[in-house]
Amino acid sequence: MDPLSLTTKISAPDIPPGPVVPAHRLSKSRFLAGLQCHKRLYFEIHSPELATPPTPDRRAIMDMGTDVGVLAREFFPGGVLVAETHRQIPAALVRTAELVADPTVTTIFEGAFVWQGILVRVDAIERLDATRWRLIEVKATSKVKATHLDDLAIQSAVLEGAGLVVDGCYLMHLNTQYVFLGGELNLDEMFALDNMTEEVLARRVLVHQQLQEMWDVLKQPTFPDIAPDGHCSQPYECPFWNHCTKDKSPRWVLYLPGVSKVQRMLLQEGIETIDEIPAHVQLTDIQQHVKANVEWISPVLRARLQSVRYPVHHLDFETFMPAIPVFPYTRPYRPIPFQWSNHIEYEDGTVLHQQFLCVDGRDPREELAHKLLDSLGETGSVCVYSEYERFLLFALGDFLPHLKPALSKVVRRLWDLLAVIQQHYYHPEFEGSFSIKNVLPALVPKLAYDDLTIQNGAVAAVMYQKMVFSETDLMERARIAKALEEYCGRDTWAMVELRRVLMERVGGRYL
Ligand code: SF4
Repeated sequence: MDPLSLTTKISAPDIPPGPVVPAHRLSKSRFLAGLQCHKRLYFEIHSPELATPPTPDRRAIMDMGTDVGVLAREFFPGGVLVAETHRQIPAALVRTAELVADPTVTTIFEGAFVWQGILVRVDAIERLDATRWRLIEVKATSKVKATHLDDLAIQSAVLEGAGLVVDGCYLMHLNTQYVFLGGELNLDEMFALDNMTEEVLARRVLVHQQLQEMWDVLKQPTFPDIAPDGHCSQPYECPFWNHCTKDKSPRWVLYLPGVSKVQRMLLQEGIETIDEIPAHVQLTDIQQHVKANVEWISPVLRARLQSVRYPVHHLDFETFMPAIPVFPYTRPYRPIPFQWSNHIEYEDGTVLHQQFLCVDGRDPREELAHKLLDSLGETGSVCVYSEYERFLLFALGDFLPHLKPALSKVVRRLWDLLAVIQQHYYHPEFEGSFSIKNVLPALVPKLAYDDLTIQNGAVAAVMYQKMVFSETDLMERARIAKALEEYCGRDTWAMVELRRVLMERVGGRYL
């Protein structure tokens, strides 16, 4: 049997016949891309090579979604997986049709359906009776988002177009309040199943028109003329952003930091660059510094820098956030610290480095906390670069009540270099961002991150998980451990150097 005949032999009773099927095939992800931007859809079909490949951390997020989807199948005992991959679509369609026709099959995972040139692979459909099915989409998110409704709308349209009766559309997602107590995961508590049928029906009425518009766009000889703006990151970061903005000035108005409403309003008024923003437009302090584009030093920067107490500890944690809890007394997406670095600067200028990295798959928190308290001692400021360390210290104290008083004392010694810089210093090369990845090259050019194997915290989390949960080659594990130590150590050494350079900027003695 020609698998595609499924789509032509079975009529769709409650939806219009659908647009003319062109030579291309849509998928639900392309449909969602098309809802975000027709130009994105056009590129995905005709010029996918223009996309920026996903970063390792983006790939890790996608893998986490896959893991959650696989785990969710345990919710439906007796369900049957259509194992054929995206390279075996005809076989997947045949297998799905067989399972649909078999009344003993209660649930189908990854079923493949085509209607009017649109292919969907469905996370789960559950048989309610001889003809009716329940559609379930699994997301590794903590709540329902508007884009999930569009996702369910196109899937239900295709299922009904392919001849199934969809009697209920559900979204299965993670319950971030679930606390894993160890042993077996309690899936009933870890997953939430929300009935979204009414909301999906409201979106379904739009699907036919939306598809017609997409097919019309795809038939054109060139891509639609759509300018990049705020829509490019909602609901997803568009992979064609770098291509669409390659000719934009570094002073493009959309690069102004802060809420995108202001930038969009300026663009609508025809203002292309930050330098053209009229004086009457109300800007935040940081936006004004970006507009002025000159170095700015607050009169109290020196006093703020001198407010540290020696020895000054420079502390940074690395964490990972598993969607599926792996350690007892954690929740989905709860950050777990696995590493810290501490550069200790004494009043005589001596700098000592101490660090901790958990290199195996056990819960790192208790040992990490004990060694951290030893390293930080009882005196001196604890310099950090964000509020994140404060949050993690509180979280560690909640998990380890016997260490809570000592950890609370550390919290009282925190001294946030990020807040000092945000409030008291600006350099044009920050380009509106106070991320240490922007601040460091501007102030300490010799000390960037581009010589490191690991260059950001998201990749550090990915590499740590690889090292402790999947990598079996001892040499590779050692290489990852070294790269993690170099990365975390660079973050804390960067703080030492930033304080030194800033002190020089205000004409003060460093030590
Ligand atoms: S970057 Fe923006 S304008 Fe360009 S394709 Fe993506 S969403 Fe569309």
